[in-house]
Amino acid sequence: MEIINDIATVQSRCLQARQDGKRIAFVPTMGFLHEGHLSLMREGRARGDLLVASIFVNPTQFGPKEDLSAYPRDLERDAELARENGVDILFHPTPETMYPKGYKTYVNVEGLTRTLCGESRPGHFRGVTTVVCKLFNIVQPHVALFGRKDFQQLAVLRRMVADLNLTVEVVGLPTVREKDGLAMSSRNVYLSAEHRKQALSLVDALRQAGVAARHGELHPRRLVGLVRERISREPDAEIDYIKICDGDTLESVDRVDAHSVLLLAVRIGSTRLIDNNYIFEEV
Ligand code: AMP
Repeated sequence: MEIINDIATVQSRCLQARQDGKRIAFVPTMGFLHEGHLSLMREGRARGDLLVASIFVNPTQFGPKEDLSAYPRDLERDAELARENGVDILFHPTPETMYPKGYKTYVNVEGLTRTLCGESRPGHFRGVTTVVCKLFNIVQPHVALFGRKDFQQLAVLRRMVADLNLTVEVVGLPTVREKDGLAMSSRNVYLSAEHRKQALSLVDALRQAGVAARHGELHPRRLVGLVRERISREPDAEIDYIKICDGDTLESVDRVDAHSVLLLAVRIGSTRLIDNNYIFEEV
């Protein structure tokens, strides 16, 4: 595995691979890798001849009061994990490389980015779509793999790819969870032992809503009420949103069906956690 910091080298390696008829699979990440990221890499390994992963804590997707400087980083460990999971090229640029002096261009998907996380994190998705578009232009992958853990991000990126006629195939993979159900996230390291326990209320609430829906409760408001009631029992939980949306458009639904997704964002202490599940699917 090669670790490459500069854009021109990655671009020329990938161009060469394309010319040699190789299929390029790409997994963009912000690093501090866990099993969720590694599941994407393994799938990428199976789907491509050249597997490229990136580690870049992208400043443009963090708000001014968010955790950009505190975001956990461990390149040495990440490189080892990437290597073990079949990555050929690990792209690790600096912020100055990606956004040099004079940088002025942003990609913005409208509509879909206004709700849910877009409401509480203004500008977040503009940063995500900008960096992913740039990474796609650098790597020029045939296929790119993303986690359903970031459900809205996946929907926004699919929209961007369709709207800008990008040729990459976007693949979404299921959320990987800890044994006790907590969705894996690089941010879980922020949680104290007590908050780690309280964080289980997210998956517990998703499960309870799923059971209720499968028993015939199809009213979004009542299902959301159940979830709210469960999470509110935790002393340090502060709900950002709990919504049931159509899985493609992210619009609110009046009655749940197989396409409906329950999405939530909750602050446990100062750590903001997100989770989601197709309402009828078992967590
Ligand atoms: P991040 O490093 O948090 O930006 O995530 C990089 C990629 O890994 C994104 O496509 C995420 O959706 C995906 N990812 C993060 N956590 C998980 C998880 N628990 N299960 C599956 N994919 C995940």
